[in-house]
Amino acid sequence: MRDVRAEFPTLQQEVHGKPLVYLDSAASTQQAQAVLDAVAAYGSRDHANVHRGVHTLSQRATQAFEDARADVARFLGASDPRGVVFTRGTTEGINLVAWSWGMANLGPGDAVVLTEMEHHSNIVPWQLVAERTGAELRVVPFDERGVLDLDVYAQQLDVRVKLVSMVHVSNALGTINPVKEMAAMAREVGARVLIDGAQGVVHGAVDVADLGCDFYAFSGHKIYAPTGIGVLWGRPELLDTMPPWHGGGEMIREVSFEQTTYADAPARFEAGTPNIGGAVGLAAAVRWMESVGIDAIAAHEAEVLAHGTAVLEAVDGLRIVGTAPDKAGVLSFVVDGVHPQDLGTLLDRYGVAVRTGHHCAQPALRRLGLTATTRASIAAYTTAADLDALGSGLERALRLLR
Ligand code: PLP
Repeated sequence: MRDVRAEFPTLQQEVHGKPLVYLDSAASTQQAQAVLDAVAAYGSRDHANVHRGVHTLSQRATQAFEDARADVARFLGASDPRGVVFTRGTTEGINLVAWSWGMANLGPGDAVVLTEMEHHSNIVPWQLVAERTGAELRVVPFDERGVLDLDVYAQQLDVRVKLVSMVHVSNALGTINPVKEMAAMAREVGARVLIDGAQGVVHGAVDVADLGCDFYAFSGHKIYAPTGIGVLWGRPELLDTMPPWHGGGEMIREVSFEQTTYADAPARFEAGTPNIGGAVGLAAAVRWMESVGIDAIAAHEAEVLAHGTAVLEAVDGLRIVGTAPDKAGVLSFVVDGVHPQDLGTLLDRYGVAVRTGHHCAQPALRRLGLTATTRASIAAYTTAADLDALGSGLERALRLLR
């Protein structure tokens, strides 16, 4: 893989007088210069509202927005860009499915299957919709390593299950779930499948056709793009059967006070002026990843993950949380007698940025008897030297904290 570190301006700085070692990419990746340039170029040359104007700038903005949709469709292996709905991020994408598809298709006696390692954004919307529809939630457990129990999953799948909604890669444990196999099992009982791809798109090529899912949600800010933009991909023919969930401009065919008819997908789900600059940035990020090579990024991250695992294993009293055989670039850990918050604060003093807390996955941590971990996470620009810096930072911090 080409050395990409120099392409990230934020990484070229010191924090507390130390070179920044950024290990919080699972929360938000940094933005590549190509992304920053694309957003600036759009904002300084082409900016106008989309879909409405006949004037040149509006047409350019519309073109840029729709080109972005086509780039994202290619990135997801989707043949039809109509399946790409721009959202604010993964959370909004999951809420869209819950409030539109869920409210229209779930009722008493129906069930939705989730896993025990979901991010709160793939739990709470289903609880809200289950309360209103009377549907039941079933939860697939995982073992000490963070591997889902597919035997229990198989038992949970029956004709009452209308949807399986599961995380592709766990942000708290790093587990890469066998989502293709799980989607195939869900289809056998006629259930729809939603994949939370917030961490999935980051660490390897995604092909929604091959995965066999109905919906795939992700966020731009986890793949080198700005915040406030994300995607819900859905099968276009399925999206067309779903009712709108936000009303407003751009999502209608015709409005009168007596009756309103709605546009087809994706416009039906994009009420109001969208985040055009964000979509331009997301498309630039997708093209940037493709230019580096998505498989090359995955291979690089796997190497750095293996190195980081060895570095952490050498730290006395440290336990890695999440040891599934199939793992992506997340290293969660706890240290006997040391609070993650104290550790994270000291590491920041040494220039090392890690995340501490429950990572919005409280049920997953509770299952392991924990309330918080420290998490180092990896992206294309992360190097083995970053993980070495984490290792020495940990040794130094732990001398003070123990
Ligand atoms: N799902 C997973 C697995 C995540 O890691 C995250 C963010 O950390 C989300 C969902 C929510 O993403 P967003 O906050 O961008 O909507």
